[in-house]
Amino acid sequence: MAAYTYETHDYDVVVVGAGGAGLRATLGMAEQGLRTACVTKVFPTRSHTVAAQGGIAASLANMGPDNWQWHMYDTVKGSDWLGDTDAMEYLAREAPKAVYELEHYGVPFSRTEEGKIYQRPFGGHTTQFGEGPPVQRTCAAADRTGHAILHTLYGQSVKNNAEFFIEYFALDLIIQDGRCTGVVAWKLEDGTIHVFNAKLTVLATGGYGRAYFSATSAHTCTGDGGGMVARAGLPLQDMEFVQFHPTGIYGSGCLITEGARGEGGYLTNSNGERFMERYAPTYKDLASRDVVSRCMTLEIREGRGVGEHGDHIHLHLNHLPPETLALRLPGISESAKIFAGVDLHKEPIPVLPTVHYNMGGIPTNYWGEVLAPTEGDPDRVFPGLMAVGEAGCASVHGANRLGSNSLIDLVVFGRAAAIRAGQIVKPHEFHPDVPKVQVDEILGRFDDLRHANGAVPTAELRLEMQRTMQADAAVFRTDKTLAEGVEKMKGIAAKLGDLKVTDRSLIWNSDLMETLELTNLMPNALATIVAAEARKESRGAHAHEDWPNRDDENWRVHSLAVVKGNEVTLTTRPVHLDPLTKQTEGGIDLKKIAPKARVY
Ligand SMILES: Cc1cc2nc3c(=O)[nH]c(=O)nc-3n(C[C@H](O)[C@H](O)[C@H](O)COP(=O)(O)OP(=O)(O)OC[C@H]3O[C@@H](n4cnc5c(N)ncnc54)[C@H](O)[C@@H]3O)c2cc1C
Repeated sequence: MAAYTYETHDYDVVVVGAGGAGLRATLGMAEQGLRTACVTKVFPTRSHTVAAQGGIAASLANMGPDNWQWHMYDTVKGSDWLGDTDAMEYLAREAPKAVYELEHYGVPFSRTEEGKIYQRPFGGHTTQFGEGPPVQRTCAAADRTGHAILHTLYGQSVKNNAEFFIEYFALDLIIQDGRCTGVVAWKLEDGTIHVFNAKLTVLATGGYGRAYFSATSAHTCTGDGGGMVARAGLPLQDMEFVQFHPTGIYGSGCLITEGARGEGGYLTNSNGERFMERYAPTYKDLASRDVVSRCMTLEIREGRGVGEHGDHIHLHLNHLPPETLALRLPGISESAKIFAGVDLHKEPIPVLPTVHYNMGGIPTNYWGEVLAPTEGDPDRVFPGLMAVGEAGCASVHGANRLGSNSLIDLVVFGRAAAIRAGQIVKPHEFHPDVPKVQVDEILGRFDDLRHANGAVPTAELRLEMQRTMQADAAVFRTDKTLAEGVEKMKGIAAKLGDLKVTDRSLIWNSDLMETLELTNLMPNALATIVAAEARKESRGAHAHEDWPNRDDENWRVHSLAVVKGNEVTLTTRPVHLDPLTKQTEGGIDLKKIAPKARVY
């Protein structure tokens, strides 16, 4: 191995990632006086959260009656009864507080006539425990909500003296004696290596949408946290649940927010029919995402797709008043023009279900602490390590996430992680240095990839993985496609040993960075398809044609996947059925959230 020197930094907490989750955690830790470093591979305000359009869910009841119990019910139903009850309760209860905090930090929310935070309807958000009409629960800053949140949180973090390490690529976790003691990172700008020695490491690295060919997520969403956790021998949870968003722009995959349907947009097939009325008579185009994506796919399959190849669907906004479009949806008017060449005031937008969100991730409790389950203790905490945001799995989204429930997950659990850190991290306690052999081991892998001289270029292998995942772990799945997909993916993962990297430099080496990212995408992708193959039921986003029904008796369990090379070992973990607060103390009525058929 080439000789590497490195610089060591000592912190109470190191947060990896500066999206909504990472920044909310960083801010919270810094506010409590913990010495906090935030390491990020892209500039904070370029994290994928910046692209979030539609909004953030919280039962503020600004536009009509609402309460946290209804929000919790919708989240439970949205999750298709796979979410953890305690975590879902925490999310729904803390949501209003977390949104008002954002408001006070300075997020420029859109306003109602009376000056309250504007809220719009979103899919699956209802009233009266699913018995009443849709609710306006999604707080929005026009269609640039993520942008507004990210900029505000970055400013606040800097104000509170959090220290940023920008364009540093985290390589691997440092694990000593069964606990995490930090992370090793490569500074992209000058090629230097940095060891972050910390009492607590928080992974906030986002999703792994780029394991698929067509995704709404940024090219940087490569599941790096999941990759690091897998290499540390820790499990990933519920990876088979991948959300397809109904309205990615046909061709580019660029997102048209669900807020577009929230403001009155609707879908049509080649007969000009509003087909969602047939499938979801009550909530129509605002049924939850998995349902709408499947209905669109069925329409296309049955020959009612639009366009020359009959392979997509139309989204209409052309009937909406131009003022609404200008005020509430300015960003997507621009996206439709740029990415589909469509003037949405006059024509429908061509759309197609596109990979959008990963429900699965690094298992945590509702404090963000990473779980390393053992036979006797399914909730065992792995010391020194937390995961928040899309990288984590608390689990509040279960088998399917409701729109606008991710942004709220970022801030509620980013904040919870900081509260917990305040309890468990002792700021002045001494912590030992990282043994050099451990750093060398991490750098050994880095160096091997840097000098990889095999036969397969990174871009080629990545494309092969993306196409396979797109075809075989899709909106609809069968025993056959999944079994074939698993075999193909194992073969593809095995080729990681035969990669070819052409640039050996250390400065701004995007070839090497993309190779590292591919080694992170791969375990995420493998876990996804292997867990999907094993789950013999249909639940939420996992629509299995050979097993069309939900099977609560056998499958209301979280799947856990430990990935080693191209082998995946699966086990399960029970779903938390108990709420945090008993009904007698003002908690949820458990009878209200008992499993039933999920119809919209
Ligand atoms: C187009 C789009 C629109 C969306 N709209 C909405 C919406 O309206 N409402 C809603 O609730 N949800 C929405 N979502 C989902 C939501 O935005 C995401 O789930 C969420 O923003 C993820 O945030 P995060 O903080 O977990 O990660 P990200 O915002 O993806 O940030 C990840 C961070 O990790 C860093 N990182 C990653 N790997 C490394 C590494 N190896 N080393 C150092 N740093 C690393 C990156 O630099 C980045 O700062 C949308 C998603 C997309 C793609």
